[in-house]
Amino acid sequence: MIEQLSIQQTIDMLSYVANRMEEAAAQLNEADQIIGDGDHGEAMARGWLAARESLSGGEFNSIGDVLGTVGMRMMATMGGASGAIFGTWFKGGSRILKETATFSAETLASFMNDGLEAVKARGNANPGDKTMVDALQPAATAAGLSRSKSVGEALLTVAEAAQHGVDTTKEIVAHVGRARTLGERSLGHPDPGALSTYLILRHMADFVGDL
Ligand code: ADP
Ligand code: MG
Repeated sequence: MIEQLSIQQTIDMLSYVANRMEEAAAQLNEADQIIGDGDHGEAMARGWLAARESLSGGEFNSIGDVLGTVGMRMMATMGGASGAIFGTWFKGGSRILKETATFSAETLASFMNDGLEAVKARGNANPGDKTMVDALQPAATAAGLSRSKSVGEALLTVAEAAQHGVDTTKEIVAHVGRARTLGERSLGHPDPGALSTYLILRHMADFVGDL
């Protein structure tokens, strides 16, 4: 499996993720209909479309530039809670990567760890609150333990950890974000933002696995 990605390969990976996330809009809207207001897929698709447009037009000098651009486009176009949260993941995760020219397992660990810390600082959610943090935190932990792997192998491990995180959200009664008003009725259903977090990482892993 490929050891690390160039800046252009990282752009291509995220453009691939954008296409897949646009296709997932109906599935994510449906997940949000059950425990929220039904707009999560639409918001994600909007954010990723804008990100893809900026990625295809721009010039990028570092991995941090690429990830930060995705985050800024999400913040600017998605609205709602998720625009701030997912934008903060990518923007916060890009912060120390402004001099980094390759996307390696080490880069991934930094992106995931710093992104997680920024999301928690911004949204005040912790694991167990039935939010995307329930997927992002185990994924970040897995990334931290995968630093010596190839980026492809690291992404597989990280996506798997996020998927387990999504499963745990089914067992939680929401008490943060819009779903909190549902109380017990959110039991048995995954958090839509956790599902998106997993899908983003899964599609990154799929893209790199095919290189
Ligand atoms: P909105 O809730 O404004 O309709 P979306 O439906 O697009 O926004 O996104 C909802 C998702 O955002 C939730 O499923 C959850 O994962 C995530 N989310 C909401 N609030 C927070 C928070 N404070 N911290 C982390 N994630 C959050
Ligand atoms: Mg919503």
